[in-house]
Amino acid sequence: MIHRQNKRINIFFGLALAAGMVCLVAGQTTAAETTATKSKVAPLKVLMVTGGSSHDYDNQKSILEKGIAARANIQWTIAHQGGKDRNQMIELFKSPDWAAKYDIVVHNQCFGGVTDVAFVERVAQAHYAGVPAVIIHCTVHSYRHAKTDAWRKVIGVSSFSHEKHRPLAVRNLQAKHPIMQGFPKVWNTPNGELYKIDKMWPNCKALATAFGEDTQKDHTCIWTNTIGKGKVFGTTIGHHNETMSTDVYLDLVTRGMLWACDKLDDSGKPKPGYGPPKTK
Ligand SMILES: [Zn+2]
Repeated sequence: MIHRQNKRINIFFGLALAAGMVCLVAGQTTAAETTATKSKVAPLKVLMVTGGSSHDYDNQKSILEKGIAARANIQWTIAHQGGKDRNQMIELFKSPDWAAKYDIVVHNQCFGGVTDVAFVERVAQAHYAGVPAVIIHCTVHSYRHAKTDAWRKVIGVSSFSHEKHRPLAVRNLQAKHPIMQGFPKVWNTPNGELYKIDKMWPNCKALATAFGEDTQKDHTCIWTNTIGKGKVFGTTIGHHNETMSTDVYLDLVTRGMLWACDKLDDSGKPKPGYGPPKTK
């Protein structure tokens, strides 16, 4: 009887052990699946800085937010500060490590009245330290009267004024550059405000120009720049919402953003994991 009981107990333990192993294997499978889920590429952490005078930043914020999120694997943080006042030294830039948490900063702002050198140099410093940047339109005219070149060197161009409003014929100078693949040979914008480029800084490379009828010369309007450890994509196009809303514009800015983060391949497509949400 005792023997039999022991035998039953042995059988019981044998079954329990087998069941345990099945559980263990099942457990491993679950762990592997979890690891696979976790190994999906994390979205780029993108900070958009927007606000200031002369432009419809309420709507541009939304156009860029939705347009770029539909084209790349990103997670937005949006800092819309300064109201419509060109003289605001926005709260965000008062911290020295204002960009430290982000993979890239998209600047779409217009603070042309700010001249405080220490403030402007603090804005620039984040990019000298290696945080990539996308520079859009009036960001180029922000801080333009400050007696420091720090911000102009980040942007890659110096500009102090613009031509009259009219549609632009934007000429693609670098069709093989990853950022310009898919961009038309000539893009006729719905509307435009061409910035006069007075100087291109040494690391700045023009990707496209538009002819300025007021000045009777070509002005760079799409470019790349490097500063310190940081890569920069810039465009002076983007005054009008109707231009910013086009697929041509949103595709361009998305490619520029991915390029600045080293997430754009040679054919102008997002590197694996950095494409739009559905094809991650
Ligand atoms: Zn403008």
